[in-house]
Amino acid sequence: MYQILIFLFASVFATPREEQWTEVKTLDKTIVLDLKYATTDNFVKQQLYECARCYLRPEVAKAVVAAHQELRKKGYVGLKLFDCYRPRPIQRKLWEILPDDRFVADPNKGSMHNRGAAVDLTIVDKNCKELDMGTEFDYFGPEGYHSYTKLSKTVLQNRKLLRETLAKHGLQHIKTEWWHYSYRGKQFGLSDWVWECE
Ligand SMILES: [Zn+2]
Repeated sequence: MYQILIFLFASVFATPREEQWTEVKTLDKTIVLDLKYATTDNFVKQQLYECARCYLRPEVAKAVVAAHQELRKKGYVGLKLFDCYRPRPIQRKLWEILPDDRFVADPNKGSMHNRGAAVDLTIVDKNCKELDMGTEFDYFGPEGYHSYTKLSKTVLQNRKLLRETLAKHGLQHIKTEWWHYSYRGKQFGLSDWVWECE
């Protein structure tokens, strides 16, 4: 009984076990982080993460880093990440602020972010400037859809580069958000784990 309790305690409170979570920066320091929910620069104008740390399931983290490294070989600084794993307690906060499933996933159903299997991202050029993708991150409207073509040739090419590079590494786009990609190679459970901040 005592051993079981120790095991339970360790699995809930321990730092993330490597088989469950990978901090993306530990695989590649050159990947750029701009986690919007660790700031007030997001669509609910509230800081939701205590600190900016990007965790993903190990397979997903490896896929993102592989795509990043491919872009680096082409002369880009690589990928810039806006959001990674989003703990369910944070999803609940978001839902309290905006309980509308057109914009926020219901925490009871959860989203791919709550499973550690989705990332929001863009590409940055050799000067670390974001490529023009036509809209800002978290722009909810048809201009943010992949199917929207009334955009400049450069924007369409940039979105295509993002789609094709990520698809090669098993990361799939969704129709309505050019910045959102998820990993479909494996199923992962919803998680309530929240990372530590120093
Ligand atoms: Zn997303």
